[in-house]
Amino acid sequence: MQKNTADQKGVLYIVATPIGNLADITQRARETLSLVDRICAEDTRNTRKLLNHLGIKKTLIALHDHNEQQKIDSVAKWLADGEQIALVSDAGTPLISDPGYHLIKALRQRQFKLIPIPGVSALITALSAAGLATNKFSFEGFLPAKKTSRQQALVANSESTYTQVYYESSHRIVHCVATMLTVFGDDRKVVLARELTKLYEEFFSGTLEELYHWLLDNKMHQKGEFVIMLAGAEAKQQQNERFKSSVNQVLSVLMQELPLKQAAKIAAKLTGKSKNALYKQGLETQRLCKHSRTKEK
Ligand code: SAM
Repeated sequence: MQKNTADQKGVLYIVATPIGNLADITQRARETLSLVDRICAEDTRNTRKLLNHLGIKKTLIALHDHNEQQKIDSVAKWLADGEQIALVSDAGTPLISDPGYHLIKALRQRQFKLIPIPGVSALITALSAAGLATNKFSFEGFLPAKKTSRQQALVANSESTYTQVYYESSHRIVHCVATMLTVFGDDRKVVLARELTKLYEEFFSGTLEELYHWLLDNKMHQKGEFVIMLAGAEAKQQQNERFKSSVNQVLSVLMQELPLKQAAKIAAKLTGKSKNALYKQGLETQRLCKHSRTKEK
């Protein structure tokens, strides 16, 4: 990183920091934090601890959800004066469920130079080891705190075929999973990542119902920080195919034991499909069987 001269505009570095294991700091993050003129931090006490660990002394400016808008002009002025500044949050990548969005949006509009220094994010760390589809996923961040809004947010996602990633804290994890159970059903596949990169890191993988019991069975499972990853809903076409093949199975088992009319009647009761349609389907199956038997002769 080069020091700016006074007539150059400064640079804002968006620096990712560890989410638990301090060894996850990158070489570039370390260098950047030691070279900037000041650091905007979500919580200066937390960042001070990280800087002490790295042996770095710096001026820290508090920049959090409650003062971000007011700080934009000050940061813009420091940059215009040629300063180099770093933005960090308490953990992980700034702006990812953390402060910084308003600042970055405003600075980009004013055409300041912004350089991301990539590193850890709980979202990607969790997904990389979940074993769920990663070709399409949606990051949902934290669900709303209010019960009805939380439920509404989940209902809006109930048909999504994407893997869904949610952040959650220890005091709401049980409620959150309970609400997911009511919206997505017992059998939806889920992976929970707890305390990533820390001493008690663990993954739970199973159905939503199994996860709910796992959380209730041991209070320790409810402690720490969580990433919840839900498998996407089956696409409508796949659901239809699966239903069709289970209807076929029911009908063909019944046809082996009963006359077609009776088999179609019982299959209709079991599957909710029309008796006539099943009868016609049975006739077609019989016709195909006869045809293949004649061919064999
Ligand atoms: N900016 C961070 C990032 O890039 O992941 C996220 C900050 S957000 C305020 C904090 C939430 O991230 C936690 O409540 C949890 O859902 C998730 N998180 C952060 N660290 C975690 C960890 N070590 N293990 C599991 N989840 C974590």
